[in-house]
Amino acid sequence: MDSNITNSMISSTRREPVNPPVKPGDIVELAITDLNHEGEGVARVGGFAIFIPGALPGELARVKVETVKKNYGRGLALDILSPSPDRLSPACGVFQRCGGCQLQHLSYTRQLEFKRERVVEALERIGRLAGIKVEPTIGMEEPWRYRNKAQYPVGLRQGGPGKAGLIGGFFEKGTHVIVPCENCLIHHPLAGRVLNETLRLAETFGLDAYDEKTGSGFLRHVLVKIGFATGETMVVLVVNGRSFPRGREFGEALHQAVPQIQSVIQNINQERTNVILGSHSRVLWGKDHIIDMLGHFRFRISAESFYQVNPAQTETLYRKAVEFAGLSGREVVADLYCGIGTITLLLAEEAREVYGIEVVPAAISDARANARMNQITNARFMEGDTAAVLSRLMRDQGIRFDVVVMDPPKSGCEGRVLDLLIAARVERIVYVSCNPASLARDLARLAGGGYSVEHVQPVDMFPQTYHVETVALLRVGDNAARR
Ligand code: SAH
Repeated sequence: MDSNITNSMISSTRREPVNPPVKPGDIVELAITDLNHEGEGVARVGGFAIFIPGALPGELARVKVETVKKNYGRGLALDILSPSPDRLSPACGVFQRCGGCQLQHLSYTRQLEFKRERVVEALERIGRLAGIKVEPTIGMEEPWRYRNKAQYPVGLRQGGPGKAGLIGGFFEKGTHVIVPCENCLIHHPLAGRVLNETLRLAETFGLDAYDEKTGSGFLRHVLVKIGFATGETMVVLVVNGRSFPRGREFGEALHQAVPQIQSVIQNINQERTNVILGSHSRVLWGKDHIIDMLGHFRFRISAESFYQVNPAQTETLYRKAVEFAGLSGREVVADLYCGIGTITLLLAEEAREVYGIEVVPAAISDARANARMNQITNARFMEGDTAAVLSRLMRDQGIRFDVVVMDPPKSGCEGRVLDLLIAARVERIVYVSCNPASLARDLARLAGGGYSVEHVQPVDMFPQTYHVETVALLRVGDNAARR
């Protein structure tokens, strides 16, 4: 059964086009053989793949074909005729509509296997890296209520009067229709309460909801960040406007309603865009950051800084990254894409010196404050684009890194950053990735430069969703280019 679960989306789009054997509106019985990389069921008719959300490998489904493209089609499962033994009844009432989770109908054990298979598949198909051992995915004991950050779009209740009837929730899959959801099962329980109080107060204060169609209206998103270890909570109100009438009063009232709220921030976003945060933030009430703890470290987190969303698994992930770095106390280390310096400080405890590089200025100020707060004196933080800063450090200042840890965004690491590491023959590279496809591409480039992939460890940071986090260890080979 395991071998059924493969990333067939990648394979199907690479095949030669075949004549579609179905047309929109057809109702067909299909045997599901795979899951694609977004966790949708895949059935094949001849060489033609049909994606069916909610269907599982091993199942027979009655499917209404909805769209047919050159290489693949999509269908709606009308009936599951023979359910898989791995099928579960989804725990959340809006699972079918909400776009947030994709795998609640699959047992957690199978979710973990699916994620490992995704990594194997990406390494083989995209990286052309065969025979690499990928460890079983490290999962959570209780794969619910794990998220410390919620981002709720705000809109008007259907038929609601002008300034009242605000709703917040999640976008319906593939649309911008808001599905109200105050009790999301993957969020911290406090998040929904904070949303409700914010909407209630927003109505009292006469704030209206932003309208994507017209670009008018005020309140766009409510972001809630919660320190799991400390309880400290930040609310970021993303608004379409520079001023915030009675903003301080609003913030204070939020704190009165939910005392854990220590920080209320206005973020200004006046662009017609799907990007949630605008580039300017200011404090409406309270602190400009919250504090959380990971292990024995305390971290300060600002509105605009990245912080891993699953604190329990973050500790597991970081422990693996530090283990792979294999430090003895003598090494000079770089932590690329370091955010607020979380991995950097862990590495600093075990290395001679660590350089953290990060492009977001607020994150770099957090990182510097975090080093001071935790009495770490051997970490330095450099603000800027990784490629530019790294080349300055390595080429201009002649710094030799023994180990490089990197944790780039979804798009992966720039080729010229990898080439710098290859040229310098950095002994060990620890690559933390939230996207198997860009990881595979980048590992292939490093392998081409003489590195061998020693360990690949998926960690489940996002239970119930198709997302996969992976940490990999690479070591320079004897035959790698000498400089
Ligand atoms: N390692 C950190 C952050 C990882 S997220 C942690 O575990 O918390 C990736 C980070 O890369 C983000 O903080 C983002 O702001 C930063 N980033 C994105 N592009 C960058 C670039 N070109 N140069 C430097 N940092 C970048």
